[in-house]
Amino acid sequence: MYSARYVRTLIIHCAATPNGRWNTVLDIDSWHRQAGYRRSPKTAEARSFNPGLPHVGYHWVIYTNGGLASGRHPSEVGAHARGFNADSLSICLLGTDKFTRLQWDQLAQQAQYLCKRYNIPVQHANAANSWRGICGHRDTGAQKACPGFSVVDWLAGDMAPLAGHILELA
Ligand SMILES: [Zn+2]
Repeated sequence: MYSARYVRTLIIHCAATPNGRWNTVLDIDSWHRQAGYRRSPKTAEARSFNPGLPHVGYHWVIYTNGGLASGRHPSEVGAHARGFNADSLSICLLGTDKFTRLQWDQLAQQAQYLCKRYNIPVQHANAANSWRGICGHRDTGAQKACPGFSVVDWLAGDMAPLAGHILELA
C-alpha cells in the first residue's frame, strides 16, 4: 500500500511536441532522463508502479488518440512545476497548443475524476485561493507558454474543447 499524499492543485502541461505528432510516455521518460529527472528509487511506487519509467516527471500523459497513460503514481511527488510539486498532480498533453478532440475529452474526464477523487475544487487555482483547483503550468509563474492555452478560459467553458486550440485530423 502506498502512502497517501495531500494534493491541492492539478497542473496541466503540454509536451511541447509538434501538434498531432505521435509520442508516448516512453519518449517522455527518455526526455526526462536527459533532463536529469529521476523517481526516488527507494519508494515502493518507483519499484512496483511503472518500474519501466524511472524518470518521467508527470502523473498522466494524454496521447493524440485520447489514450491516457500513467507515469508516476499519484502518491509520488512529481517533477513538473518548480515550487508546486509537493502538493500537486500533473497531466501532460502531447502537442504544443492544438489538441485533438479526443485529447480534450480525455482531459475533461480525467480532470473531473481527479477533482472528485482528491477533493480539489473545480476552479482556477491561484494565489488568492491558496492554489486549490486547476491551473496551467504558466499560471504558476514559470517562464513558459505551457500548456499552450488558457486554463481560465477552458474552465469558464465548462471544460469544452477550447476554440483556436482544436487540432482537426485530416
Ligand atoms: Zn509544463
